[in-house]
Amino acid sequence: MIPDSDNPREACGVFGVYSPGDDVARLTFYGLYALQHRGQESAGIATSNGTDFSLRTGMGLVSQVFDEEDLAYLRGHISIGHTRYSTSGGSVACNAQPIVVNDRHNGEPIALAHNGNLTNVEILREDLEAQGIQFESTADSEVIAHLLSIAPAGTWEERFHYVMRRIEGAYSVVIMTRDRLFAMRDPMGVRPLCIGKMENGWVVASESCALEHLGVPMEREVQPGEVVMVDAQGMTSFFPVAPARKRAICTFEYTYFARPDSRLGGQLVYLAREAMGAQLAMEHPVGADIVVGVPDSAIPAAIGYARAAGIPYREGLVKNRYVGRTFIQPDQRIREAGVSLKFNALSEVLRGKRVVLVDDSIVRGTTTPRVVSLVRNAGAAEVHMRITTPPIVSPCFLGVDMATKAELIAANQSIEEIRAHIGADSLGFLSLDGLNVSTGQVPADLCNACFTGVYPLNVQMQMDRLEAPRLREPELVAAESLNRAGRP
Ligand code: SF4
Repeated sequence: MIPDSDNPREACGVFGVYSPGDDVARLTFYGLYALQHRGQESAGIATSNGTDFSLRTGMGLVSQVFDEEDLAYLRGHISIGHTRYSTSGGSVACNAQPIVVNDRHNGEPIALAHNGNLTNVEILREDLEAQGIQFESTADSEVIAHLLSIAPAGTWEERFHYVMRRIEGAYSVVIMTRDRLFAMRDPMGVRPLCIGKMENGWVVASESCALEHLGVPMEREVQPGEVVMVDAQGMTSFFPVAPARKRAICTFEYTYFARPDSRLGGQLVYLAREAMGAQLAMEHPVGADIVVGVPDSAIPAAIGYARAAGIPYREGLVKNRYVGRTFIQPDQRIREAGVSLKFNALSEVLRGKRVVLVDDSIVRGTTTPRVVSLVRNAGAAEVHMRITTPPIVSPCFLGVDMATKAELIAANQSIEEIRAHIGADSLGFLSLDGLNVSTGQVPADLCNACFTGVYPLNVQMQMDRLEAPRLREPELVAAESLNRAGRP
């Protein structure tokens, strides 16, 4: 739980390294440290020395989970790691990753870490349970691990073909066997995954920033539908299943999730965010004295807005960078007093000014009114809210925890009603075309489902489950059997 936050929450970050002669556990620790923004609930590292596996997982931030003793225990030349925010399964220790299962053919361990969400996990889980497989976690990632463990013996390409033709949804996965490292990305390419070359081996990571922190140049992205395999012979790759009908790279990676110093689809995320701000200035101009970004993710967009509009950019809000996971929640009295744990306003900068306030999204609409009133209370004469995404009208089923449709403010209120709710003088959302162009990608290759309600695959069952509390039980059962009957 992140207090004071209405931002969408990313599922996970994954990291893997194969490098004989290097301290791979330490490299993985620093890789995960760079991917901390993708998940703060739990972290884990698994290593192999070619014979034995070692595993350490725990709840909390990467720096809280591991110490020198853990890194000394994690020996080997292959390692995978994971930082987690739960979108599937609960926030409990048994769901921390990497997950380790035994290969059904030779009893050898297989470790796996996953970023994304499977959309057909219930059916797969039932099938596996019917085959006598017992699950130790509620995470859908364990389904992928067990599928690989039971995949008919053969080449690795054949085994991944068995897995990838069964699983549907978003998955960027790192896998470790006794003597190999694998990286697998779903055919739609929803979540990022990239690969870098080291002197003695290879590194894979959710984002290029993790490679750059280690001084490893990014070689390329793992392609949608590709499996990369690294072993003693070097790196090879294969495409086990036919290409997807459509690519569906998550647009939110560009606006919010990825770090600004990461490269996605050849585009530096920082520059994509600047372009979003510039586009927003063209679409929603307003007379103002200063432009302020809501830290941290909206700052590049605010700079882009300011430059395009010819209005000075100022830092009017300061973020408490140490607000993250905490078990101490503000009580109601503190909330009502308007205390913000996350931001502080600079009244000397804001007083008497007409302010353009730039942020990346409005989800439930719980945080934005507090930020607007913080800026007003600091003396701003006017507050004009500008958002670098279109209104969010549909939930995500591909690895991001947002809200149910009933909770999404833009699914239920007009823009004018939202403006009144957040207390701004004006409100402008970036258009879908403007957003897509700013990413520098081919628009048809992007997922825009949370802005359009048009999903790149069938999510009816997930939709029904998410909205289930609003259905009476007989209606829910009927809806589910209808969905099952209608599945391709
Ligand atoms: S629905 Fe939205 S958040 Fe989810 S993958 Fe698509 S663009 Fe990203």
